[in-house]
Parts: sequence; C-alpha cells; structure tokens
Amino acid sequence: MIKIRDLTKIFKMKNDELVVLNNINLDIEDGDIFGIIGMSGAGKSTLIRCINLLERPTSGYIEIDGVDITTKRGNELLKLRKNIGMIFQNFNLLMQKSVKKNIAFGLEITKLREFKIEGMAEEEWRRLNYFKKKQLKKEAIEKRVNELLKVVDLEEKADVYPSQLSGGQRQRVAIARALATKPSVLLCDEATSALDSMTTKSILNLLKKINEETKVTIIIITHEMNVVQEICNKVAVLDKSEVVETGHTDEVFGNKSSLIVQNLLGGVV
Ligand code: ATP
Ligand code: MG
Repeated sequence: MIKIRDLTKIFKMKNDELVVLNNINLDIEDGDIFGIIGMSGAGKSTLIRCINLLERPTSGYIEIDGVDITTKRGNELLKLRKNIGMIFQNFNLLMQKSVKKNIAFGLEITKLREFKIEGMAEEEWRRLNYFKKKQLKKEAIEKRVNELLKVVDLEEKADVYPSQLSGGQRQRVAIARALATKPSVLLCDEATSALDSMTTKSILNLLKKINEETKVTIIIITHEMNVVQEICNKVAVLDKSEVVETGHTDEVFGNKSSLIVQNLLGGVV
C-alpha cells in the first residue's frame, strides 16, 4: 500500500517560490489501478515523480508497504526504485538496441561509455542502470526476456529495432522493460497520449491483464477520461496543487456537483 501524507512540494526559484503540491493525502491500495487527473499544470507529474523520489518532497511523507521512502538515499533509494517501474508518453526506448536488448537492458551489464542515453529519460536510465550491478546469469536474463516478450505479445519482434515498430508496439516494449525487474508499482505518465484510440485500448487491455496476473499496482496520469473510465478502479482529481476529489471512479465521475470533475469529463482539459 502507498500512503501519501501531508505531501507538499515547493519549487524555489530565484525570487519566488511555487507551491506545486499542497498538503496531498492519498491511499493507494495494492493492486489498484489508480488514475490521477486534472488540468495541465495541476501537479500530476510532480506527484508521481515524488513516488519514486525523482522529486524530493518539501514536507510530508510517502510510505510504501509501511516504509517511509522519503528518508531514503544512496543504495537504499536505488533499491526502492527497483520496486517502481515507469513508462512515458514518448516511450524512451534505446533506438540503437533491438527489442530484446531494450527489455534486457535493466538486467544486463553494458559498458556505460558505449551506451547512448539518447531517447531515454535520464531517470529511467539511472533506475535501470542500478540493476546491472546485480547481474543475472545470461540464461536467466534470456528466460526473463522471453517471458516478457510473451506477456507483451512481441515474440516475433524480438530482434527488430524500435524504429521498425508502431507506437503501440514501442509502448509494449517500454512496458516489458519496466516490468523486467518485477516491480510492485508501475507509474504511467500519459503513457497512451501519443497513441490512437484502438492502440490505446490494446495498451490498456495489456496493463489490465498484467495487473490481474501480477497484482502490480498501477498509477496512471492521463488527460483521456475514457482511459480512466475503462481501467481505473479509483481516481484522484488534482486542481491547483491540491487533491479536490478522490474515491472509486464511478463515484467521483458521478459527482454532478463537482465543477472540476464535470469540466474534465466535458473534455475541457
Ligand atoms: P500536464 O498535464 O501539463 O503534464 P501536470 O499536472 O503534470 O501538467 P506538473 O508537470 O506536475 O503538471 O507541473 C506543475 C507545476 O509545477 C507547473 O506550474 C510547472 O511549471 C511546475 N514545475 C514542474 N517542475 C518544475 C521544476 N523542476 N521547477 C520549477 N517548476 C516546476
Ligand atoms: Mg504532466
């Protein structure tokens, strides 16, 4: 379970400060598919980046399975990140590596100087890089990669390069890569925003299947309300740095008196 308590994040600028998260309290249960919605600039990305400490909270804390993660640093922090996968809107694949190699990346030793981080968010690169220190045997890596190729239904594309894949297939590779280290939490920041509606549906079905089979907790930020309706059992609405609504998706979306919810549902995002 993820417990977020009194979480505040203030970005300090030269002569100013910006309160981006103001006293956030949320409970995310194991196995939830939890949606986070809200207008642009509401603080959604900052909130999930606090969950793997890509951003450090200014005050408040986050507990994962009873352990306060906000005090973690160094190796302890890296260990924590082993448990939290992340996927992004632009997939962040390694364009010079095959599908198989992309998926194996977090499990293999690669010479860093040969490695180009081009095309990949630095934070994801850092997270995956940690696992190279805990290298699995070659056969174990192959076995895990094959399992994951099966999960994301890309066995036939194992040896091709990301440039030869469709957007949906690229996101499948990113999902497989994020799951390679068997995390218990998967963070998705606008993971389907670059995809058409059919492809979005297939990615959502995949996430749902993975959630059912592995019980991984999935946190999804999206501007697409149909995505939330389709797969999120719970949702939180962020508005101007605060959680203004949270609960089961049908209850929150059924709240006719909430202007912000009705605006979001009306597509005014
Ligand atoms: P969107 O839907 O457009 O992705 P969001 O809800 O994800 O928006 P955030 O990216 O969390 O919003 O940003 C919230 C606010 O924090 C914005 O005003 C943004 O400019 C500001 N912000 C984000 N990161 C930083 C930073 N590193 N330094 C200063 N301000 C920041
Ligand atoms: Mg964002």
